[in-house]
Amino acid sequence: MSRTAIVWYRRDLRIADNPALDAAVRGAYDHIVALFIDTLDELGREAPGAASQVWLHDALAALANELTGLGSRLILRRGAAQQVLNDVIQASGATAVYWNRLYEPAVIERDKKIKSWLAETEVDARSFCADVAFEPWTIKTGQGNPYKVFTPFWRVVRNRFVDAPLTAPTRLAKPPAGLHSESLSALGLLPAHPWANKIHNAWHPGEAGAHERLERFLNRTAKDYKTMRERPAQNGTSLLSPHLHFGEIGPRQIIHRVQAWQQRNDHSDARANGDMFLSEIGWREFGRHVLYHHPQTPHTSLDVRFADFPWLDDEWALDAWRRGRTGIPMVDAGMRELWATGIMHNRLRMTVASFLTKNLRIAWQHGERWFWDTLVDADLGSNVLGWQWAAGCGADAAPFFRIFNPVRQGQRFDPDGNYVKRWIPELCNMPAKHVHSPWAAPQLVLETAGVVLGWSYPKPIVDLKTSRQEALAAFETIKSGR
Ligand SMILES: Cc1cc2nc3c(=O)[nH]c(=O)nc-3n(C[C@H](O)[C@H](O)[C@H](O)COP(=O)(O)OP(=O)(O)OC[C@H]3O[C@@H](n4cnc5c(N)ncnc54)[C@H](O)[C@@H]3O)c2cc1C
Repeated sequence: MSRTAIVWYRRDLRIADNPALDAAVRGAYDHIVALFIDTLDELGREAPGAASQVWLHDALAALANELTGLGSRLILRRGAAQQVLNDVIQASGATAVYWNRLYEPAVIERDKKIKSWLAETEVDARSFCADVAFEPWTIKTGQGNPYKVFTPFWRVVRNRFVDAPLTAPTRLAKPPAGLHSESLSALGLLPAHPWANKIHNAWHPGEAGAHERLERFLNRTAKDYKTMRERPAQNGTSLLSPHLHFGEIGPRQIIHRVQAWQQRNDHSDARANGDMFLSEIGWREFGRHVLYHHPQTPHTSLDVRFADFPWLDDEWALDAWRRGRTGIPMVDAGMRELWATGIMHNRLRMTVASFLTKNLRIAWQHGERWFWDTLVDADLGSNVLGWQWAAGCGADAAPFFRIFNPVRQGQRFDPDGNYVKRWIPELCNMPAKHVHSPWAAPQLVLETAGVVLGWSYPKPIVDLKTSRQEALAAFETIKSGR
């Protein structure tokens, strides 16, 4: 009798270094069913927005191509995971289901139920580690607790041995003949809007695109990463985040490849820049660590004092922030880039998040949801970590009194104003000296640049100094409750 295994693809859309796929290949099954289920709401909240869905569409198309090249095909289905798995097990006669673990609370909950159901039905259910280099439960403080601060977390893990990535299979057993698959278009991931073309044109989703992106980064940018990563007008970072989110490349692969690059370029610059880049991969691991150990954090501040923080309910200001119409150029440029492209530089993410939660005093959850809806790399662990960090209420949070001044952020990290001018064409003729604070520019400068505040570009919706003082006063009301 022929033996069949299902490899349940989730956010591990790759062939190489995919332990679930590797286990099925090693099991010498006669048939391997590479199955992706569009579960719609597996994270316990709505799926991320259109940019992320377009990416998923393209990444699935790329995976389907790769599988075809290996003599197999991708089976696509929609619906509740357990129901779909049951249908596919019945239709294929599978006796094993293998998958790679994810760390979002709702997914863990669901996967646990599926594992016990499969065990009851005597199907061999096994899960593996692919999304992280260091699983959250393997890292503990001396007292046996999870970490809440990044530096000691990273000190413990950064020198740990990381398993060498698994090589890709060269051939795969086919799924049983006649097994039904939805078409990719039936999943409805592509919006009718031509905006989706921006993602197709600007990115190359899929495993090959992820490796190209990493190689381009190592060949061109990595040697100056420490300084260039802070310049939003330059392409100074890897732009690997959406590839990592969908598992087109895994952290083990990145760590090994960067370490090899460091050895080949054996000088202190390569070491320092490579180590800095790996520590960013470490932040992603830290986000998963915090989310796993504090599953309430997608909704609730980790610092419990913030339950009583006097957030403001200001829909008008929130809308101005979302649309990039706050009158603060660094904030507006970041928000407009996000809306136009689905991506935002890390420096801007920190700046706009600080502005929303501190100057506008709007609860971080509103910003987190907007990022979730608009980012191409929307990722629960990293997004919640970033938002709570910026709001001063999360793990390793910036102290609340550290309020980013968006004018100084601009002067320091966008000194020529090129980034701001790219996204706010209304300000393109402003001299660099005044582009980050047009409201403080002499009238003649504004006239020469063709800027009429309140008409061609908004006046600031808050005074930065006053709102900063009000935020600090609001913090005083909860400060002592820790
Ligand atoms: C408010 C806020 C929200 C954020 N939301 C997300 C999100 O939804 N998805 C997401 O992937 N990142 C998020 N980040 C983290 C960070 O901004 C992005 O990972 C980074 O900008 C992606 O660009 P890159 O791939 O060029 O980064 P690089 O600088 O090249 O870094 C390499 C990789 O390290 C990881 N990384 C880098 N910085 C961080 C960080 N601070 N936290 C966690 N991982 C990091 C990413 O996977 C990234 O691809 C957020 C940060 C903030 C402040």
